[in-house]
Order: sequence, then structure tokens, then C-alpha cells
Amino acid sequence: MARRTLETLVFDNTYARLPQAFYAKLNPTPFASLPYLVHANPAAAELIDLDLEQFERSEFAELFGGKVLAPGMDPLAMLYSGHQFGVYVPQLGDGRAILLGEAMNHRGERWDLHLKGAGMTPFSRDGDGRAVLRSTIREYLCCAAMQGLRIPTTQALCLVGSDDKVYREQVETGAMLVRMAPSHVRFGTFEVFYYRKQYEHLKTLANYVIEQHFRHLHDADEKYAQFFNEVVERTAKLIAQWQAVGWAHGVMNTDNMSILGLTLDYGPYGFMDDYDADFICNHSDHNGRYAFNQQPYIGLWNLSCLAQALLPLAEKEALKASLDAYTPQFEREYLKRMRDKIGLVEEKTEDDELIRDFLSLLQGSRADYTIVFRALSTFSSVEGVPNEKLRDHFLDRDRFEEWAIRYRDRLKSEDSHDGERRGRMDRVNPKYVLRNYLAQTAIEKAQNKDFSEIDRLFRLLQDSFTEQPGMERYALPPPNWGKHLTVSCSS
Ligand code: AMP
Ligand code: MG
Repeated sequence: MARRTLETLVFDNTYARLPQAFYAKLNPTPFASLPYLVHANPAAAELIDLDLEQFERSEFAELFGGKVLAPGMDPLAMLYSGHQFGVYVPQLGDGRAILLGEAMNHRGERWDLHLKGAGMTPFSRDGDGRAVLRSTIREYLCCAAMQGLRIPTTQALCLVGSDDKVYREQVETGAMLVRMAPSHVRFGTFEVFYYRKQYEHLKTLANYVIEQHFRHLHDADEKYAQFFNEVVERTAKLIAQWQAVGWAHGVMNTDNMSILGLTLDYGPYGFMDDYDADFICNHSDHNGRYAFNQQPYIGLWNLSCLAQALLPLAEKEALKASLDAYTPQFEREYLKRMRDKIGLVEEKTEDDELIRDFLSLLQGSRADYTIVFRALSTFSSVEGVPNEKLRDHFLDRDRFEEWAIRYRDRLKSEDSHDGERRGRMDRVNPKYVLRNYLAQTAIEKAQNKDFSEIDRLFRLLQDSFTEQPGMERYALPPPNWGKHLTVSCSS
């Protein structure tokens, strides 16, 4: 297959051919200072057939720093609205991102190249249209981490830095990130046309999304209801994956919910260190609306906003039936993953309780979520073996002992073999996750133009399940300074 250069990328901009009401066409606003490449992602480049040697060219940073356009790009800012913290905001839209175009690969797939931090758009409201280096590093690394964890996500092609000042709580420098996804349509893209009573546009959007991304529904009866049903399924599955890995999104507004069930829009997210079901990673989320244990319910709440927006197109009863199926679906998906995490193969009704009680043990000890699940694979089911090292993670050792007896019996009931189970468990319980403090270390170095830690984490997290030589310290609990770093919406 021929690899493409920046000049020979192939674009086919389907979104730009939708009615004008869907977007505002405009070019990115480049930085005043010279843009430079901070990091680029070979796997993402391959998705658009881009030759990796293109990373070395100064034109690469110019293109993805918004200074020039490639032939065939047709840049636009997408319109959407959404419910933010439960309140409907009639117009949001790409306030600081620009869809440069849809790059086609040799398989005929289209990938949105969405430039985040590309300057003001008609949807910027009070914002400056910019993104800061700190937040783009967090997004860039977390995309790689999610990819490594096999959790559906948007991808990040590259990160471009600048010396331009951007004002947040402090003075920071501006950066741009190229986000890639088959589509950036959100729940809020449907909501905007529903609340404006522009039902023709609503239908055009639904038909477009089905044609592009749910083509198997083209001739289906009640295709809009079926489309919604699939969004419900994808969302339930996505959130089950977040819960299983101990990750909180932080701002699950309906404008940050992907219609494809991808993790979208990385802001004040967090992987849990110590297990706390009420974990709130977003410092600005005072009421804990988006706390870790609220995410499954918020998924449902957001889906009901989407259902509402689809009322002009689909039968209410059908939409409601899909919504009703969400919670059982989520629970099934979640339980399946948690069973895998504790190494069970067969399904038994008591598993739910066994898992809950293990989480309650973790909660009582504020034990490290990632480390303890990883350590559980060392559990010996041999009678009389005390599993001391594992027990040491818990404050209440007696409670652990009680649990361990039940776990041992449960493993015996399916003739579980310790060695074989360990291998299986290590393939689902990550050794490395992107702890906030690790991202913070990379950010601080990058602010002094040392990008080596970004590169190290990027490589490490692509393979989160395999022990990597020399990387032991990345699997340790956070140091004290790194335990309760505050991350807010400011990005
Ligand atoms: P977010 O919280 O990143 O999902 O953003 C919510 C809305 O605010 C979206 O419409 C964003 O485009 C917009 N937004 C966030 N930050 C900025 C900014 N610095 N400048 C302009 N718009 C922004
Ligand atoms: Mg957003």
C-alpha cells in the first residue's frame, strides 16, 4: 500500500456537504509564534495511510498547528448543544476545535481530523478558542492509555506546541491536538435541532449518521428506533468498561457523549488511585454529579436526553423499551468484566455478591484499585496458604480472610488452576494506568520543553498489561504529593 504525504492525503468531506445550518465554515487561526511538534502517534497516522517520515517535516507542525491547509481539507466548526451538569444550554458547538476534513484510507474508512485549540469560532461564546499544553498532554496520553486498555476512544494523531501565552488560572502556553474519530457527532448534535424544532435537519442528521456509521440499518424497519437501540448498547458497554478499569470521565455532559460510543473529550478525567466509589475527579463538580459511581446512571440520563431528541423520528414506546434495556445491559457487561478481573470463567449468581464484597473491602482500606486487582492474580487457592502479601493491602485482615475463603471455594467450584488463571487475569487487569500524577510529571517536564516523559508514558501505556523491564516505578502507588491533585474543567 502506498503511504501518503501531507500533500497527498485523500479527503472526502461528507459533513461539509450537509446543510449550512450544521456548521460554520472557517479556517484555523494559527499561533503567532512558530508551532513545533511535541509528539506524534504512529498508529493513528497509519489509520490515514500517512507515511511516518512526515512527522519530521516542519510542514507537519505547520499543518497541524493550523498555519496551512492540506489540499482537499474543507474546515468547519460543528454546531451542537447539550445538557451541561443537567441544564440545557441551547448552543454550544465547536468553540475551539475545527474539523479540518475527513481523511480516507485505503480501506475506504473516513477519519475526522479535528484540530483542538484552533482559535475562535462563531461558537466560542466567552472562550478564547485555545487549548493549553497541559490539557492537550492529558488528552493525548489518555487516548493512548484507553487504546492500550482496549476501551473505545477517539484517537490523537499529534500534539503541536507553541510559545503563545494562554490565560487560565495561570499563564500557560497554547497547544493544538489533532483528534481523530470516524465521527464527532454527539448526543448534543441531535439535541440542538430538536430544541430548535428543526425536525427536517434532525432527520437529515439521523439519516447521515445511519448512512455513514450504521449502514446495516439502511433498510431496517423503524430504523431510527433501532439506531437509538444501538447507541444505548454501545454506551452501556463503554461505561461498563470505564467502571471496570476505575476511570471517571469527569464531565459527562450530553455534548461530550459520542454517538458511536467512544470515550470523547478528555478534560478533568481520572483513573482512581485509592478505591473510592464516590470518587470525584473534577474539582469543579461540587455536587458529585459525575462521581465515579454515578457514571452508569448518568449514561442513562444522557441517553434519555437523546431519546427525547429523537421523538419526532421514532415511536416513543420503542425508545422507551431501549432505555429500559440499558440498566440490565450495563449490569451484564459490568459483571462480565468484573468476573474476568477476578478470574472466574463460569457464571454463578453469587458472583455479584463476591465482587461487591471485594470492592467493599477495597473501599474500607482505601486500597489502590489497579494494584490490588493486579495482585489478586497471585492468589493461591491451595488450602492453608495465607496469601499474606495480598492480605497486606487491607486494613481489616480478618475480613479479607473471610472473603478469601469464599473466593477459594468459588474457584474450586470451577476447578480453577492457579497458573492458568493468573495468565488470564494479567491480561485483563492492567499493570500500568495513567495516574494523574504521572500525567502531571510529563506536563511539568514538557513545560520546560522536555518531551521525553510524554514519549515514555505513551509507549508504556500502549501495552498496559505486560510487565515492562525498568518500568516498575510506574506501577507503584502515587507519592504523597501526587495523591489528590486537583483537575478542573479549565483546559
Ligand atoms: P468542554 O467542557 O471542553 O466539553 O467544552 C464545552 C463547550 O465549551 C464546547 O462548546 C467547547 O467548544 C467550549 N469551550 C471550551 N473551552 C473553550 C475555549 N477555551 N474557547 C472557546 N470555547 C471553549
Ligand atoms: Mg466538549
